[in-house]
Amino acid sequence: MKKYFIKAKKIYSLDTDNNTYSWLLVDDKKIRDLGNNPLPSESDIPLLDFSEYTVLPGFIDSHVHLTSTAINEISLDLSIFTSIKEIIKTLEALRDSLPEGEWIIAKEFDPENVEERRNIYIEELDHYFPKHPVLIVRKDAHSSIVNSLGSKLLGLEAKKEEILKEEEHKIAIGKVYQKIEPSLLVRGIIKTLKKAAEKGITTIHALEGGYTSPPNSPKILLGISQYFPIDVLIYYQTTSISKVKELNLKRIGGCLLVDGSISTLTAALSEPYVGTENYGVLYWDLDSLINFIKTAHKEDFQIAFHAVGDRGIELILRAYKKVLKEYPKEDHRHRIEHFELPTQEHIRLASELKLNLSLQPSFLYFWGGEGKLYEELLGKERAKKIIPLRSILKNKIIAGGGSDSSVTPINPLLGIYSALSHPNVEERVSLLEALRMFTYNSAYIGFLEKEKGSIEKNKDADLIVLEKDIFSIRAPEEILNISIIATISKGNFVYKKLTLSFDF
Ligand SMILES: [Zn+2]
Ligand SMILES: [Zn+2]
Repeated sequence: MKKYFIKAKKIYSLDTDNNTYSWLLVDDKKIRDLGNNPLPSESDIPLLDFSEYTVLPGFIDSHVHLTSTAINEISLDLSIFTSIKEIIKTLEALRDSLPEGEWIIAKEFDPENVEERRNIYIEELDHYFPKHPVLIVRKDAHSSIVNSLGSKLLGLEAKKEEILKEEEHKIAIGKVYQKIEPSLLVRGIIKTLKKAAEKGITTIHALEGGYTSPPNSPKILLGISQYFPIDVLIYYQTTSISKVKELNLKRIGGCLLVDGSISTLTAALSEPYVGTENYGVLYWDLDSLINFIKTAHKEDFQIAFHAVGDRGIELILRAYKKVLKEYPKEDHRHRIEHFELPTQEHIRLASELKLNLSLQPSFLYFWGGEGKLYEELLGKERAKKIIPLRSILKNKIIAGGGSDSSVTPINPLLGIYSALSHPNVEERVSLLEALRMFTYNSAYIGFLEKEKGSIEKNKDADLIVLEKDIFSIRAPEEILNISIIATISKGNFVYKKLTLSFDF
């Protein structure tokens, strides 16, 4: 399928003038023409008639941990089982399909969900799985159970405690990830990308390496990228300049942690978490941060750091400021990921330094609002200030949207809905602004805006066909029910709803 017309009820270009069209021409992966005038009736170029539907540019998720999402994808989901007996039976079936020594990985185990109302014991795992290492991640995703063979392979000391928590859990996960059979991982990656395409995604920024994925995952991804249905832009989560150069990449960082996260009380705050003396954790001191940023900046890399709490954000801003004042550079597009609890002063400074952000509005959907996690841990006043979208956009900062998958699902419509229904009414943004976060802005913060992010002549033919006109909704909730009919990446259909039929 090389050259074809698309006719639609409305094509929203989301370009700077917000032009709309009724047809476009795709030729050799690109959009070659657009218009509102009637289509030439005698053309022999095939026509896809989407007159009942609307078209948008493909969505871009600017913050995905692709391999860890893929591992999640290939792990057995235990949430559907109601007894430990059933779980063991299913794991046994999995065991029989895997060679000895291969990891059995399962997720979403919740003792509250099974009739036995208890944890799975290490002894029973040892009994049924003597020759296969087993890792069972619990529902909270911050703790896990590993059998004795697994512990031995991971070099963990023999445990009396049944459950691995926090640091130990992270170490276990990190080590297991390194041992996953590559072909299995590749299957998970392709499956994840296909599922992303179903959600209207045509590009993701994949933040790879570090303990959240196999350390060589950037290399694995580059090696198989020709098989990907959609585009994957790699950010290497390392502090090693040479590793990034080796792979000819231009981007360093991602979730390189300046501080931790709110849910684990490790995001660094200027006032303690409610009811505690805990101010969270900083993983860098200012001097080392400046040194690293200076080196990477002088290498001409785009840099990205994870900073969540106000104290974490303060630290990364001071480091960026110092380097950028000493070595000014137009268009550096250095990034801060998450930027959850900035002060108004931080927002002004980020704008002045021309920093880019990748924000995760869907965090608000899961943890924002009355009585939810942010309020519980930060108190009402601070919780209101989480991810201040309106203040950020008002200060002319370019902020892309992202899911932080697997923290929240890859689903831009959920992110867009969350941005529109920010629990703090004053920080809500418009539909157009929210859509831009997941299209043009996410292209821009990855240096992709010349090829992607809007429907314009000579840009990539990255398109979504929506069942319903998203601009016709009466309430934000309707966004969650808009059905994606098709997703087109560089002119190819990478997702098509079964009901959609056309002959070509
Ligand atoms: Zn992060
Ligand atoms: Zn992340």
